[in-house]
Amino acid sequence: MDMVLGIDVGGTSIKVGLFTPEGKFLDERKITTTELVSEQAFAAVTGAITAFLAEHDAGPEDVIACGLDVPGPVADDGTLGIIANVELDPKGFVAAFKAAFPQASIAFVNDANAAALGEMWAGAAKGANSCVVIAVGTGVGAGIVANGRLVAGAFGAAGEAGHVTVNRDETRQCGCGRYGCLEQYASAQGIVRTYLEECERRCVKPVDVEHATDTLSVFRALADGDECAKYAVEVMCDYLGLVMSQISCIVDPELYLIGGGVAGAFDTFAPMLRERFDAYALKPSRAARIEVASLGNQAAMYGSAYEALRIRRESRTPSLE
Ligand SMILES: [Zn+2]
Repeated sequence: MDMVLGIDVGGTSIKVGLFTPEGKFLDERKITTTELVSEQAFAAVTGAITAFLAEHDAGPEDVIACGLDVPGPVADDGTLGIIANVELDPKGFVAAFKAAFPQASIAFVNDANAAALGEMWAGAAKGANSCVVIAVGTGVGAGIVANGRLVAGAFGAAGEAGHVTVNRDETRQCGCGRYGCLEQYASAQGIVRTYLEECERRCVKPVDVEHATDTLSVFRALADGDECAKYAVEVMCDYLGLVMSQISCIVDPELYLIGGGVAGAFDTFAPMLRERFDAYALKPSRAARIEVASLGNQAAMYGSAYEALRIRRESRTPSLE
């Protein structure tokens, strides 16, 4: 039976999703890894996946496509840029997979881009022809699908919505080395920071915040009528709505999906985000829907499986020239 793998590649573990070629999710397995740079490490991974397949009455030769999503840039031609926090030898990794799963086409996809593809394949964007999935979590990332195809960029940096400059007067540096990026205000960390700063400015005691990305406490405070929490969420929606309006000027998607950890509070901030987007967007683009992503942390797994499958299908299609 034909099987498709979608694999989240992380720093200390990988998460393997097993799918049918039609996009039906069958099962997933987390595999703890060492640094993915040696034959030994590769063999441990492919061996664990083979055992996982056996539980589903499948063998290595049943795998027809295998997508690997990574937390770093992947260019349009599939080449990887530098991936922070993950030790990975991509060439060795691919070679080991090709040897272990000889029938499989193999693809690397950036995780935010993979999430967008996953939502198009089997999630909330199913049936849409153009869609931008914005993951609002520790950082802010986006995956852009236009005319049914991923826009990864010549250098793998397409969809880096979190690093669109929204405040040229910012003096605090962003993780990317620049200043005033969207991520500094609209990420989980940004929301918490804005909240704490506003409390300090107004000389009011903030609610207990457990960690730097604890937006749950901020949204809870908002529900209790906390003015500083309201301000932090307004800032987040204002900058996010602004950047979405700018994305619309370039790619004009029919649908925006908000994913990532902060999407848990989507119902709370959606009306405000809608209002800000409409205020900034060019009139025709205001028809875009803004909804919540549906596949959660499985989205990238789905999307990387889909991309590997697409590559397989396209390479099989005979050329018309
Ligand atoms: Zn930045």
